[in-house]
Amino acid sequence: MPQFDYDLFTIGAGSGGVRASRFAAGLGARVAIAEERYLGGTCVNVGCIPKKLFSYAAHYGEDMAHASGYGWQVDRPAFDWPTLLANKDREITRLNGVYEKLLGGAGVKLLRGRATLADAHTVEIGGKRASARHILVSTGGWPVVPPVPGAEHAISSNEAFHLPELPRRALVVGGGYIAVEFASIFHGLGVDTTLVYRGERLLKEFDADLGVFLAGQMQHKGMRIKFRSNIARIEKAERAGTPNERASGLSERASGLSERASALRAVLEDGTVLEADCVMYATGRAPNTRGLGLEAAGVELAANGAVVVDAHFETSVSSIHAIGDVINRVLLTPVALAEGMVVAERLFGKGDRSMDYAAIPTAIFSNPNVGTVGLSEAQARARDSDIDIYRSSFVALRHQLTGSGEKVLMKLVVDKKTDRVLGVHMVGPDAGEIIQGFAVALKCGATKRQFDATIGIHPTIAEEFVTMREVST
Ligand SMILES: Cc1cc2nc3c(=O)[nH]c(=O)nc-3n(C[C@H](O)[C@H](O)[C@H](O)COP(=O)(O)OP(=O)(O)OC[C@H]3O[C@@H](n4cnc5c(N)ncnc54)[C@H](O)[C@@H]3O)c2cc1C
Repeated sequence: MPQFDYDLFTIGAGSGGVRASRFAAGLGARVAIAEERYLGGTCVNVGCIPKKLFSYAAHYGEDMAHASGYGWQVDRPAFDWPTLLANKDREITRLNGVYEKLLGGAGVKLLRGRATLADAHTVEIGGKRASARHILVSTGGWPVVPPVPGAEHAISSNEAFHLPELPRRALVVGGGYIAVEFASIFHGLGVDTTLVYRGERLLKEFDADLGVFLAGQMQHKGMRIKFRSNIARIEKAERAGTPNERASGLSERASGLSERASALRAVLEDGTVLEADCVMYATGRAPNTRGLGLEAAGVELAANGAVVVDAHFETSVSSIHAIGDVINRVLLTPVALAEGMVVAERLFGKGDRSMDYAAIPTAIFSNPNVGTVGLSEAQARARDSDIDIYRSSFVALRHQLTGSGEKVLMKLVVDKKTDRVLGVHMVGPDAGEIIQGFAVALKCGATKRQFDATIGIHPTIAEEFVTMREVST
């Protein structure tokens, strides 16, 4: 048996890498983990956590505007961007520390720096080499900004978390979840926001009703959406006078909106010119594999750079495994965590854990929120399932007094033959919180009859899911 420095060497201390390393150490393995940038990876530093904090911030403005319907007088509320940034950074620093403690507590050796592969059992970091029986690649992904002329003036979600000033006008490019989330964040913070999307329907990977309904609600709130549009080039422009067109009633002077941010002109492919102070691309992410030495070590990569793995996360080199965004399967933190535990268990435990990708619930923290689990209507039909659709759209009780006119969409996809609920979809407040519970029901194979037999909680929005009786046409 060759002697190795470690049983497991993990490259990348993000969601998946940290979980796999801690779990492996708990099973008795000698583990080291390398991190070149920040502990906790994308999710903690430039993903889920700061995004959700920004989303909370964005909702307060609207809540204050709505409060007048309930008798509250909230005159000229002031928003201060530097306060939000500083508080967000403080929370992230706290979480970085929690991750460091978790690793230390589990006995995992943390090495700071960029790690690369020297061969199937050797990692190089900071000019030193370490050998390991197993190597785990969990290097995540990185945002891609397309190479349009002037792309250097644009930002990605990474920079959006650190803007020195809040722009007055923002263009967000894309139609996926990060695009609609950031459009909602900017708009909620008082930024005059336009979403530019080359497609015809937002959130195209999800049930078609969700994207269509969400677009309608976002427009109703005052966000502009330009469908079938793409930016051809971005130029610097002289700042023009910019009346703040937002409807939420926040004081302009007090809102922290930037007077100084440099203005940009985005010229669309059809010749339309859109002025903005910030152009943010949310058009995709690429697996972080460049320059890692994977190919030289014999690890097969897909055309998009993703590490190719089998059902057990083993690459084409048996001592090297990969998990999380770098394998480009399902780009979500809880999925990376689950994959990490499967690998650790397989390498150092009983090996009886496997990954189940069915019915993974997802929330999109746009305004309004979207929550979804299971099959979309189109996916269910494509499986030749004979299905019933239950659909309901209404103004929630809360908004009867705010006068906002905001609507909720709830939808069930049900297999006619087995009566099983195949999909639960929603656009509306707290959709993520609501769908998490229904995800358990779907995993348990719940039927529509069981949904119907469940007593609702009144008055809630969620009760609609157990009181839908009419099949939609
Ligand atoms: C804006 C945004 C919002 C998101 N919101 C959500 C959400 O609400 N819910 C959700 O579930 N998911 C969300 N995600 C996705 C989620 O963040 C990722 O799916 C998750 O972080 C993937 O974990 P990972 O371990 O694969 O990679 P990561 O968390 O990206 O970690 C990879 C780590 O590897 C390090 N690294 C890379 N190369 C090297 C190297 N050579 N040497 C040393 N270290 C290296 C990186 O610095 C990084 O820390 C969001 C993502 C983004 C961008």
